[in-house]
Amino acid sequence: MSSPDLDLWLKVLAKIEAQLQRGQFITWFKDTTVLGRDGATVVIGLPLPMFLNWHLEHYRTLTLDTLREIDPTIEHIVYQVDVGLKDDPLRTLRLLEHFPEKQKMRKLPNKSEMKIAEGLTSKMGNSRYTLENFVVGANNRLAHAACLSVAAQPGGKYNPLFLYGGVGLGKTHLLQATGNAILRTTPNARILYTTSEDATNQVIEAIQHQKMEQLRRRYREVDVFIIDDVQFLVNKERTQEEIFHTLNTLLEDHKQVIISSDRAPKELSGLQDRLVSRFERGMIADLSQPDYETRYAILAEKSKEYGLLLDQKVVAYIAEHATRSIRQLEGILMQAVAQYELEHCVPTVKSIADMMLKLGDEPVVLQEPDTGFVSPPAHAVSFQELMEGVSRYYSVSVSDIIGQSRVREVLVPRHIAMYMGKKHLRMSFVRLGESFSNRDHTTVMHAVTKITNKLAEDPQLLREVRTLEREVGFVER
Ligand code: ADP
Ligand code: MG
Repeated sequence: MSSPDLDLWLKVLAKIEAQLQRGQFITWFKDTTVLGRDGATVVIGLPLPMFLNWHLEHYRTLTLDTLREIDPTIEHIVYQVDVGLKDDPLRTLRLLEHFPEKQKMRKLPNKSEMKIAEGLTSKMGNSRYTLENFVVGANNRLAHAACLSVAAQPGGKYNPLFLYGGVGLGKTHLLQATGNAILRTTPNARILYTTSEDATNQVIEAIQHQKMEQLRRRYREVDVFIIDDVQFLVNKERTQEEIFHTLNTLLEDHKQVIISSDRAPKELSGLQDRLVSRFERGMIADLSQPDYETRYAILAEKSKEYGLLLDQKVVAYIAEHATRSIRQLEGILMQAVAQYELEHCVPTVKSIADMMLKLGDEPVVLQEPDTGFVSPPAHAVSFQELMEGVSRYYSVSVSDIIGQSRVREVLVPRHIAMYMGKKHLRMSFVRLGESFSNRDHTTVMHAVTKITNKLAEDPQLLREVRTLEREVGFVER
């Protein structure tokens, strides 16, 4: 199938693609098309109502300029939402042909298993983890630098390398990434990645089948020995014994050993002293909680990996509220990806806030430390700030909130903005009416009453309003 309109649009897409980040381009231009042309006006089809605001705000000028470059007789564009576009196989096919990388980006990375010695497979080779895609911040700089150094020179001065830190802070990532980096420069290096639980099971099994000698030999044949979550060796006397002797042999042969744990060596009570002092003889680096900027950078990196470019406000919102661990950050991001893939719903601050509530990740409101001083009153929120907050939360432009549109996506935010203007800013109905395109004050009254009544019976709406109030910076009176 070929039509002048489609060809025109493919040319436009190729040009726009070159100017946008990949994820952004795919998110906002997939399933778009030219629906028709009327003289100097081109009708652009968008697959979802959601896209309309976004295109109007962000891509209108770019799209029009690009169309004009190709055909200078074009003067206007109008947008039309056509939900049928979303699942039109013909169009999707065209896009896939045109942008084959799109298929690759959407596939989530696989874990691959790799044989390192007969009878011993390792979980190494999860190529998703690299030292390059590990985001470095103050919380993990030393650990990352140590891994880089080990990757450049295995068995060198940082041996053993001992990393420790809480759950989800990147230990496994760094361990596997270091193994991957060594494999890249030395493809036939024998690398064993094991968790201390796996090691324990192997030891138990070897004892049962009288194959201890074999297991020992295999352990000692490797060039790089990586053991994750060593805290689980606590009270596993026999496994500790085996690991101790293995490490001794390997270290004597200048083979690289990398260990991770959830706490520092000296806090590993229940572990033999000689094992602990073995750990302490090399390089020790800790990983701690990332700060806001690092969380933001990690999210940006991860969303790029998954081919989903999130709006900056959304990234900022997640980074601000998901403070527990990087795994939590990733979990939320994956949910957002799934939401986008399954429901074709582009994540917004609101959808993320809803999702976090559902996951039980209620955004944390940090308490001011009790300093003994009375904290200054929260700064007064202006009408403009209220409107911007609502706009951000619902991904609807301020001009739409104030304007005349009566679609549901705009009506709800408008009514909520009016309600908050009344409740928090104590504006009169008349003033509010004036601020909303000179509406009559009775219209505002109706809206405020409607929201007030609804809040009493709709817990979902209540949560939305509470979250929004926090976002905008209103304090409870
Ligand atoms: P741990 O082993 O310490 O519990 P993981 O290594 O499994 O934590 O990390 C949890 C997730 O967070 C992984 O998907 C990992 O890729 C990611 N992650 C942690 N720290 C970083 C970082 N600094 N940069 C990028 N991703 C990170
Ligand atoms: Mg881990």
